[in-house]
Amino acid sequence: MSGKERLPVRGAQGDLLRLVATGRAESRAELARLSGLAASSVSLRVEELIGAGLLVEEGAGTSRGGRRPRRLRVSPTAGLLAVADLGAHHARLGLLDLSGTPLVVEERPCDIALGPEETLDWMAASFDEMLLAHGPPGVPLRGVGTGIPGPVDPASGRVVSPSRMPGWNNFPVAEHLGAHYDLPVLVENDANLLAVGEARAWPGCDNLMVLKAGSGIGCGVIVDGRLHRGRGAAGDISHVRVRTDSSVVCSCGHPDCLEAYASGAALMSALTEQGIVMRRPADVVAAVNDGVPEATALVRNAGRLIGEVLTVLVNFLNPDAIVVGGSLSTAEPLISSIRAAVYERCLPLATRDLEISVTRAGPDAALLGAGSLLLDAALLDAVPA
Ligand SMILES: [Zn+2]
Repeated sequence: MSGKERLPVRGAQGDLLRLVATGRAESRAELARLSGLAASSVSLRVEELIGAGLLVEEGAGTSRGGRRPRRLRVSPTAGLLAVADLGAHHARLGLLDLSGTPLVVEERPCDIALGPEETLDWMAASFDEMLLAHGPPGVPLRGVGTGIPGPVDPASGRVVSPSRMPGWNNFPVAEHLGAHYDLPVLVENDANLLAVGEARAWPGCDNLMVLKAGSGIGCGVIVDGRLHRGRGAAGDISHVRVRTDSSVVCSCGHPDCLEAYASGAALMSALTEQGIVMRRPADVVAAVNDGVPEATALVRNAGRLIGEVLTVLVNFLNPDAIVVGGSLSTAEPLISSIRAAVYERCLPLATRDLEISVTRAGPDAALLGAGSLLLDAALLDAVPA
């Protein structure tokens, strides 16, 4: 079983380690250029990081003519991060190295409706099992993080007024996990994690809106290359009022929220009411792919409503791309109706060169996002070497 240790990193060492871990630098010269530190100062700190077992130097880096530079990377034995992405009925769990490369990823069924204590204790037990089975001996655990399918207060790590998560309102998730693990803990909204993980797959796009269309509906916002949290609820579009002919009261008590029409949960219950039984959002996608007309009509309507909400946001924020992830993202009519609404209604200057596309980072995007934010938390929490 792996031990638990804080990272032995201080001052500028942390910034250099982060540049190597995120793949932005692999040589001393690149570190000097990106950090603004003098070459001698970079060399000294790199030697310290190598001495502490956090960086290794190997082979030849990318040749740019002349002498081949040696290549720096994070040592595979520098530490592990245990990360999860909790969904309504299943969780994705992973062990990553400090550069975010997964050692193992597993999807396991779970039920967040059982409440926070049971769910989080199950998650901790799953991490323990995975560490035992896959954690290399002697490599310490450096942090634990999870995505939550609801709003999270970034200051306290509490869940605030989530939908379909009975017992979770105001529960101190970070404190509960912190009692299990005397380590840096990250608790973040799932769409925010998705946005951070996805951003690495969009180099050159500094402003992104990343929609998560699953059981719920959420959005993470990247501004100038960084996650924009606002006061915690930035990007939460689930309770924006939409224009419809009917009227449905949302779980929040207000009429006609986007979530009441366009979330996977809403689509599943609308189809079940029409006699087509649905158990998870993936069943909605399967029905669309099978050409079930009721499913296609509802998904197309969901895309139109999401697109209408996004038109306001696209005009306001002018992102480089809108990326759609989550289990509904593979339903083609969803993306095409979002595209139609945004291109029809947005300002030409806002939609010129705007990409609207499905996720590039794949099913582990949220775990990669968790790893990236957790490394930041571990560096902040580092003990002086
Ligand atoms: Zn609502």
